[in-house]
Amino acid sequence: METFEELLAESTRIHGHICAGQVIGVRMTIAALERIGIRDPKGADRKKLYVMVEIDRCATDAIQSVTGCSLGKRTLRWFDFGIMAATFVNLETGRAVRVVAREEARDLSAEYCPEIEDKYRRQLEAYRVMPLTELFSFQEVGVQIPVSDMPGRPIRRVQCSQCGDWVQDCREQQLDGGTVCRACAGLRYYTVLPGTSSTSPI
Ligand SMILES: [Zn+2]
Ligand SMILES: [Zn+2]
Repeated sequence: METFEELLAESTRIHGHICAGQVIGVRMTIAALERIGIRDPKGADRKKLYVMVEIDRCATDAIQSVTGCSLGKRTLRWFDFGIMAATFVNLETGRAVRVVAREEARDLSAEYCPEIEDKYRRQLEAYRVMPLTELFSFQEVGVQIPVSDMPGRPIRRVQCSQCGDWVQDCREQQLDGGTVCRACAGLRYYTVLPGTSSTSPI
């Protein structure tokens, strides 16, 4: 794997700016991969790695950058927990580690770079050098990844009996005896504006 500085430069380029989240995300990922025995995440080991992130903030881009895992490849899943944590899984061995960024690190950063007044820049610089144990807590965990969440071809495609959209990857639900998409089951996050639909529903 590349060095920390090389990985940070790459994640900064992809993310669009350098920030504490990039430092945290890169260091977290390097430490986690070492613990689960993944040496070449974008090469020889790319089919062995699966990551669950628990927040959609800066560090998530760094995790994606270092691991090469992504939503599109179905090797990165987002659990909307709002916790600065991620679980890294070695699919071959089943070994998994959950890494949580410690809240205490924010204050501890003052001990490393007291000369930097700006809090965010101080955290960024301190996070580069702080010991892993001050930055993170690590848990060995077990995870059961459903087959329908794994990479590869969709298990099935079914049509929603209400709106007509096609649903892949077993995300359909049963409602009043019919098979429906999640939107029609009550999870719709949008409203279709009148007169704008280019195809009429079935
Ligand atoms: Zn950022
Ligand atoms: Zn539907």
